[in-house]
Amino acid sequence: MKALIISEVIDGKLGLGSLEIISKVRNLNIEFQLVTVGVDDVPTIGSDSFKQTYLKRSSNSLQYNKVADYINNIIQNEQVNLVLASSTYQCRDIISFLSVDFNSSPVSNVIDFSIENHKVQTVNSINGGNQLYKTEVDSEVSFLLIRPKSFEAVDIELNSNYISIDVEDGITKIYDIHKEEKKGPQLEDSKVVVSAGRGMVDVSNLSIINELASKLNAAVGGTRAIVDAGWMPYSQQVGQTGKTVKPDLYIACGISGATQHQVGMKDSKFIIAINKDEEAPIFQISDLGIVGDTLNILPKLIESI
Ligand SMILES: Cc1cc2nc3c(=O)[nH]c(=O)nc-3n(C[C@H](O)[C@H](O)[C@H](O)COP(=O)(O)OP(=O)(O)OC[C@H]3O[C@@H](n4cnc5c(N)ncnc54)[C@H](O)[C@@H]3O)c2cc1C
Repeated sequence: MKALIISEVIDGKLGLGSLEIISKVRNLNIEFQLVTVGVDDVPTIGSDSFKQTYLKRSSNSLQYNKVADYINNIIQNEQVNLVLASSTYQCRDIISFLSVDFNSSPVSNVIDFSIENHKVQTVNSINGGNQLYKTEVDSEVSFLLIRPKSFEAVDIELNSNYISIDVEDGITKIYDIHKEEKKGPQLEDSKVVVSAGRGMVDVSNLSIINELASKLNAAVGGTRAIVDAGWMPYSQQVGQTGKTVKPDLYIACGISGATQHQVGMKDSKFIIAINKDEEAPIFQISDLGIVGDTLNILPKLIESI
């Protein structure tokens, strides 16, 4: 079995999702190489322990069909039979071109996989993580989209040992890019996350969440309900249609614990929930539950730290 991991450069670094996939393929002793897509100049994404090809896109053109053509060549020239990518918007676009090229069907929402009798078997999470199903892929080249945080990221030294290819412009031009300003610890890699829900009652009370987060050096997250209400940007939404987090400590403040929220945080190592309704579903997955008013409890908690 020969694997190709499709990766991306995010904020000048190799995407965390690919570091998670590398740790899994190493555990399975699968021979692998990387192909990474990005717009940055000379990012540190190479390694002496695996082959890396950097497909450098231009910053003002979407070229996923062209990117897919380069990856198609690598798959054929290197006789790759397993293609793995983190389930990001960019990777999903690229994989869709490739799976058509190879007359295969991508398997998405994969949370684990193994090789049995030279066949790829996957475990997939559906219905907000409430159900799992298994697949066996029966095609010459298998394409898997892996859910973020399914594996522990590998800790490796990266260098500039990679091959770089400039991808020619595509027909779709990018006219405007809006980048959400990032401040403080980020949801994806923070060891502590403090999240707010509608039970914070008013947007002005998010200052309490920010204060607690800054005391704990934590990232701040929120539910879709408060993102939809405009209390927080979408980049901070945790859940099925937001980010998946797996911190050591997750503090859910005034969050009911709908399945769509749980799917993005239920694998956190220790969960503390504060909710005035003792029947709130969030308590079913909490290690410590506090029944009470967030607006009374949180200031006391902050004071005691
Ligand atoms: C297709 C789809 C995708 C979705 N994706 C996501 C997603 O990615 N992430 C996500 O979060 N949701 C998502 N949702 C929405 C989800 O179903 C819930 O509506 C949402 O998570 C609820 O947010 P909430 O807990 O803030 O609000 P609510 O469900 O309204 O809960 C508020 C909670 O606060 C408690 N409360 C109220 N006042 C206080 C107080 N003073 N002190 C203490 N507790 C108090 C209440 O008891 C209640 O439990 C999705 C829904 C759909 C249909």
